[in-house]
Amino acid sequence: MADPSSLPDVLRFYRDLGFTEIRAPAAVSPSKARKGRSQPAAPEPKLTEPAERIPVWNYRPGTDLFGAGETARQDPAAMLGKIQEDMGECTRCALHEGRSKIVFGSGNAKAKLVFVGEGPGADEDAQGLPFVGRAGQLLTQMINNTAAGEGISIQREDVYICNVVKCRPPGNRAPEPEEMKTCGQFLDRQLDAIRPKAICVLGGTAAKYLLDTRQGITKIRGQWQDWRGIPVMPTYHPSFLLRAYNKEGKRQAWEDLKMVLHYVYD
Ligand code: SF4
Repeated sequence: MADPSSLPDVLRFYRDLGFTEIRAPAAVSPSKARKGRSQPAAPEPKLTEPAERIPVWNYRPGTDLFGAGETARQDPAAMLGKIQEDMGECTRCALHEGRSKIVFGSGNAKAKLVFVGEGPGADEDAQGLPFVGRAGQLLTQMINNTAAGEGISIQREDVYICNVVKCRPPGNRAPEPEEMKTCGQFLDRQLDAIRPKAICVLGGTAAKYLLDTRQGITKIRGQWQDWRGIPVMPTYHPSFLLRAYNKEGKRQAWEDLKMVLHYVYD
């Protein structure tokens, strides 16, 4: 969303994100908070004390919105459940029209490592689970075999896996930037809830959203990036690696994965 221009817009936006309550700092009265805003003729927000909390209009990525991060760190599974509940039978973007099932994400809510792809394919759409088709099987092999080969005792079930968009784009096309912006708010909340030690982002499309970059995946793969203070390793999407000519890509992806696994689990 661009900067909201009026309080009703702000409230609608955060309601859509699933927030049901607004708190403001004790030192800031509602009239002061509105001072200087050009369109104050809006319903009074329901302000609640105590309020060492961050007012929604001051929210910036990385801040602890309404203590969500704090709560999540205590109980990420409950927080993920709340995010899924807020998502409901979502129709916030056009991708809902062609989906069979929403693919929210799966794995360990307390995972130290999260994998993020771009969106569900046909198999995922049918099962409601991420990375279960051919590319998903390759990802499972990559995680399990690389970890075993490196003497790290984790398996796929120990990590968390999700996508930027939760509904299958028609014809397996890449999600549009606007669709990623809309649905990505749920991904942001998932990552804030889990707060893993590292994120491995799979493919250029997901990397563009998560890292807000215009650089292609071949340029940035294998180099640590940052998402709100969490190290991010970009690498190739497994579906790209399934192509027969991609021997060098496969080698690079396995190198990237080894780097991530050692960073997280050593
Ligand atoms: Fe909602 Fe995301 Fe599905 Fe769009 S892709 S309808 S925002 S769940």
